[in-house]
Amino acid sequence: MRMYEAMRGRFGVQGWWPSQAGAETAEGKTEICVGAILTQNTNWTNVERAIENLRRADSLSVEALDAMRPTKLAGLIRPAGYFNVKARRLKNFISAVVEAGGDIEAFLDRPIDELRAALLAVNGVGPETADSMILYAAGQPTFVIDAYTVRIFRRHGLLADGDNYATAKAMFEAALPTDAGLFNDYHAQVVATGKWFCRRRARCEGCPLERFAHDADGP
Ligand code: SF4
Repeated sequence: MRMYEAMRGRFGVQGWWPSQAGAETAEGKTEICVGAILTQNTNWTNVERAIENLRRADSLSVEALDAMRPTKLAGLIRPAGYFNVKARRLKNFISAVVEAGGDIEAFLDRPIDELRAALLAVNGVGPETADSMILYAAGQPTFVIDAYTVRIFRRHGLLADGDNYATAKAMFEAALPTDAGLFNDYHAQVVATGKWFCRRRARCEGCPLERFAHDADGP
């Protein structure tokens, strides 16, 4: 919590996940889930361009994405990179929602463990993508681990080399109050710290976590 407070003191509350339609609407939830798949292996600016293409084509709904040909979908999401693979992954996710009845709000409105299992069963949805959907679209408390989280907390000695996604997630969830709003903003603060300071080569001077013990030469 002290590390979170230091980051929030620097960056302010981040207000994630950026969704034009708002996370409380079916369109917003669809947009967040689509964004969680599109952001794999690319930066958010590219994802925004792909989502804007989908919005202009009036395609940010389960029905529209289900009806769309994979080649057309791949063309619209081209700016996000790996567009053929991601089009297949989006189709896999949308098929899972359709098979469950087609209502994305009902699909997401389930106990965390059940929802997580359903998402991880989708080909192309791994733990980070599933947890992003659960946290940001479903608004349920699951901690998201990404490459920035691993790098920062390894350099601060709180994660070990052998820790995997599950052990890292368990470490945060044991250390923090179970609160979706906190988990939401904590992850956003970690991304801001990773983006501006804890790069491949650490820039510790002025970093909000500088006063916490660290080894900047860590992996
Ligand atoms: S840049 Fe330095 S102080 Fe900041 S998180 Fe990385 S290791 Fe810690």
